[in-house]
Amino acid sequence: MKSKIWLSSPHMGGTEQNYVKEAFDTNWVAPLGPNVNGFESDLEKYLNQDMKVACLSSGTAAIHLALVQLGVKTGDEVICQSFTFCGSSNPIAYVGAKPIFVDSELDTWNICPNALEDAIKDRIKKGNKPKAIIIVHLYGMPSKIDDILAISNTYNIPVIEDAAEALGSTYKGRKCGTFGDFSILSFNGNKIITTSGGGALVCNTQEEKERTIYFATQARENQPHYEHKNIGYNYRMSNISAGIGRGQMEVLDKHVGLRRQVNTFYTKIFKDIQGVEVQKEPNQDYHSNFWLSSILINQHAPFTKSEFQEAMVKENIETRPLWKPMHMQPVFKDNPYYGGNNCETLFNKGLCLPSGSNLSSDDLSRIEECIIKL
Ligand SMILES: *Cc1c(COP(=O)(O)O)cnc(C)c1O
Repeated sequence: MKSKIWLSSPHMGGTEQNYVKEAFDTNWVAPLGPNVNGFESDLEKYLNQDMKVACLSSGTAAIHLALVQLGVKTGDEVICQSFTFCGSSNPIAYVGAKPIFVDSELDTWNICPNALEDAIKDRIKKGNKPKAIIIVHLYGMPSKIDDILAISNTYNIPVIEDAAEALGSTYKGRKCGTFGDFSILSFNGNKIITTSGGGALVCNTQEEKERTIYFATQARENQPHYEHKNIGYNYRMSNISAGIGRGQMEVLDKHVGLRRQVNTFYTKIFKDIQGVEVQKEPNQDYHSNFWLSSILINQHAPFTKSEFQEAMVKENIETRPLWKPMHMQPVFKDNPYYGGNNCETLFNKGLCLPSGSNLSSDDLSRIEECIIKL
């Protein structure tokens, strides 16, 4: 059997272990320490715009703490892009609120501004104005940020920007992860950079950052004994994980460049194959990190989606369907949904292809041969 080609696997830059070793040497083997502070300041410098970053145990935890700080409670409603990973929507349920799902548009595959506005108007009419809007930059592609922020302004509803897949992407030259009232990042094993597992909440002020850390460390009051006025969480990032993150920051831009090259590689291959579209940036305002390169296979293609998948499986090459929309998931089957069938169509036609920054030229040749043969 040929070696497995993964969709997106961890890609170490080489210096990560130095930071981890330093943590051991100085005995900072704890959910705080110099690497956590260092990783936060690395991210703040990278994102710019005076953002303040609090590192946490996961991206999902970051969304949870954004909702907590926006005061979302039992009985509230929160709008969420339906076409996403469950990490975007599950935290809405953690706070006892109800997710209201919204369809995507076909330029970026992200939340459709028209359907979003319809949803807001209808929920207001029904007497429950949504408390927040969770938008996602799926596969690294920035969403229609200007339109979304205009709607958020008009109705005065805060935006939680899920940039878990979009570290290194930009919209009109500004980094994704800096647009929301709160924004979140993920450093899970398959993301653009990894800390083995981890995430961050990007805040607009130092006070919000401190409040985030307070909630992430069991909401301990400033007292010599353990005093609690609020329910807290154990969500802080480990100093060991943060060490990996510090090393990964040194290669982030390089890895974004490599993922973009992988996307160009697929664009070239599929250019002459009828009925197959590679996801692309709608125009120059959008700059994707192309965390995952994805294709849509329609009825004019020389192969079906399952034929394509099977051929890749035979060559031990991983592919994966696009995210199954949340409004189609059994667990959310009773939740309201606004829009048409765009995200359902994308789910039916789409596949993610191996996209890692660590794909070798041998790997790329194997993939190309497999596609051409088919
Ligand atoms: C990965 C991911 C998350 C959650 O991040 P974790 O760190 O795995 O909790 C949230 N939203 C999206 C879109 C993601 O891809």
